[in-house]
Amino acid sequence: MAKVFVIAGPSGVGKGTLIGRLRERVPTLELSVSATTRPPRVGERDGVDYHFLDRTEFDARIAADQFVEWAEYSNNRYGTLRSELERRADAGFPVVLEIDLQGARQVAERMPAAVRVFVAPPDSAALRQRLLARATDSPEVIEQRLEVAEAELAAREEFPYVVVNDSLERATDELVAIVGSQLLVG
Ligand code: 5GP
Repeated sequence: MAKVFVIAGPSGVGKGTLIGRLRERVPTLELSVSATTRPPRVGERDGVDYHFLDRTEFDARIAADQFVEWAEYSNNRYGTLRSELERRADAGFPVVLEIDLQGARQVAERMPAAVRVFVAPPDSAALRQRLLARATDSPEVIEQRLEVAEAELAAREEFPYVVVNDSLERATDELVAIVGSQLLVG
């Protein structure tokens, strides 16, 4: 199985943007499309941004052991489908997962060979600003996410790699260096 990279960190820290930039620089790296019960945001496409499932369908898949990991986040469920991961990794492509902290902990236990990177904000004010700028979420959702984010910040200690997203350019370079060196060691 090819290398698996896990990018975790608080919501709003810029994981998605960083992964997009990373994949431009490492084109063989494939993104695992997660499943979620959260409703699509404007512009999000089913099967591209997420597999949007209703709660019954999601829970049926949990019962059928179809998830490598899953977590409840902000009243919705999110998970990595085994089929998503294996289809890519078995074909020899390195895969990147963008998941929350609870999911990253499950991957650390179940797939110890996965390379785990924590993306940290320069400070929590920056995180608040980013979440507020994402005008698609309601103020209540943003507040709830900020609370979770504060608690998640402490988890950076658990990760072998930490990338501080202070400048997108610099943080991308650092992430590319980590992924590049790991791909070289096979
Ligand atoms: P959002 O609703 O902003 O797209 O995602 C909320 C949080 O869920 C983010 O921290 C995101 O990384 C995380 N997330 C997305 N997909 C997965 C997944 O498959 N598993 C887990 N555990 N978390 C996920």
